[in-house]
Amino acid sequence: MFSKLLIANRGEIALRVIRACRELGVRSVAVYSEADARAPHVREADEAVLIGPAPSSESYLKGDVIIAAAVRTGAEAIHPGYGFLSEREWFARAVRDAGLVWIGPPAEAIAAMGSKTAARSLAIAAGTPVVPGTTSALRDADEAATVADSFGYPVLLKAAAGGGGKGMRVVHRREDIAAALQSARREATNAFGDDAVYVEKYIVGPRHVEIQVLGDQHGTMLLLGERECSVQRRHQKMIEEAPSIAVSDDLRERMGTAAVAAARAAGYVNAGTCEFLLDATGAFYFLEMNTRIQVEHPVTELVTGVDLVQWQLRIAAGERLPFAQQDIRPRGWAMECRITSEDPANSFLPSTGRVHFLHVPSGPGVRWDSGIETGSEISLHYDPMLAKLIVWAPTRIEAIGRMHRALLELTIEGVDTSRDFHLRMMENDDFRRGAIDIQWLEQHLQALSSVAPPRTGVIRAAIAAVLLAERDRSAPQRATATATTGAASAATGNGVSAWTRAGRLDALR
Ligand code: ADP
Repeated sequence: MFSKLLIANRGEIALRVIRACRELGVRSVAVYSEADARAPHVREADEAVLIGPAPSSESYLKGDVIIAAAVRTGAEAIHPGYGFLSEREWFARAVRDAGLVWIGPPAEAIAAMGSKTAARSLAIAAGTPVVPGTTSALRDADEAATVADSFGYPVLLKAAAGGGGKGMRVVHRREDIAAALQSARREATNAFGDDAVYVEKYIVGPRHVEIQVLGDQHGTMLLLGERECSVQRRHQKMIEEAPSIAVSDDLRERMGTAAVAAARAAGYVNAGTCEFLLDATGAFYFLEMNTRIQVEHPVTELVTGVDLVQWQLRIAAGERLPFAQQDIRPRGWAMECRITSEDPANSFLPSTGRVHFLHVPSGPGVRWDSGIETGSEISLHYDPMLAKLIVWAPTRIEAIGRMHRALLELTIEGVDTSRDFHLRMMENDDFRRGAIDIQWLEQHLQALSSVAPPRTGVIRAAIAAVLLAERDRSAPQRATATATTGAASAATGNGVSAWTRAGRLDALR
């Protein structure tokens, strides 16, 4: 095992990797931007190196600066997390060329799966079913229209270099294709510096089901079951679970075989995910392979008992997987809610500010993977995901109940978050029955947003109000603060009631 590892990331995933390092006796080196000088990952790592100003293009995306930091601190390996440089082939290569170990698949496998069109060709050659469509970039709108006509509308234009739902356009009519192609290309150029766009059939009403694979350097490739990620907004996942209510043992085996075939065709090693669309008839189509650890990996960890991040390190260090496929027996149900700094009551508008107060859920079956703490400053520089709330329970319905309870315990004051949205989802009949597809949320968002949040957190609101009042009292501009249980009248210096700022006035009415 390495003695020291550098983490080329921030936020919750940096902390997740630091935890794995500590459990394996590996020293960790954090990198950080000026905006993150007081971030938890900087404090928790054994060492930390400042790599540049707040914009990620000047810090977390500076591969050469990050590699230099690793060399200077004597780190032997680099873990890229997800996002940022995690799926950049050139970075994986540069890490290797600098004599360091890359915690992930070989650069060649990243390249093979890096472009969606290349990945589609590879999957087709491996016998893995893909969504009908092209395997090369479109020349122009005429070609797009001809291909679209051949398999019928709606179709989906997709950036070959795509990620995070960017550069995608659904087209319902032939006459809209030219404008959609132009705007998809523009978005793709801005996001990825590559305007290649291809077309595939838009599948109506499928689920998003993905298969986790884990392969060592000695030829063993294991399947760690599926995750369902159908609760999506703008093609971005919001809730993930394992297993999937829609996957039978037989289907799991067939999807698993298809995933392993695609992964092996790419020469895959380490943790990776094959994403599929699963339609109502049980037909499934390969979408892409994510050649890195995924945001939603904890749900797989909770049902399989396999620590994916630890195994990423151990595999990169050359260890053999000590278990066989029959040893992987998923147990119970796990669910994850992404807690983002977005306001569900206001079209998920990004929210910024300081986290004044944070109360984290705990108790049986609850895991909180977070990059924030009380006092954290939330800016627009980085992804709005603040934390992930993950639960485990013996059955799906118990997991939903547990998630609901945990969300009620969660209090984040100072920025708007997606918490109330998730509470409403846990109460939603369709979700509780598992009758969800990837287009469901867009159709129900309005109705979900207009339901008042449940009456919760009264006691904690009282504590929060008192704490806020205390804080304001000790602030230079002295304020009078009284909080009585009945009247909720903790007035503060700026004239806003501490009860109101505690965000729970509704609950008291
Ligand atoms: P990205 O890499 O940008 O995340 P993906 O190819 O993984 O793009 O697709 C993201 C999401 O977009 C999928 O989870 C699914 O919800 C939706 N999607 C992608 N392709 C199709 C398709 N052909 N038909 C319907 N929905 C699709």
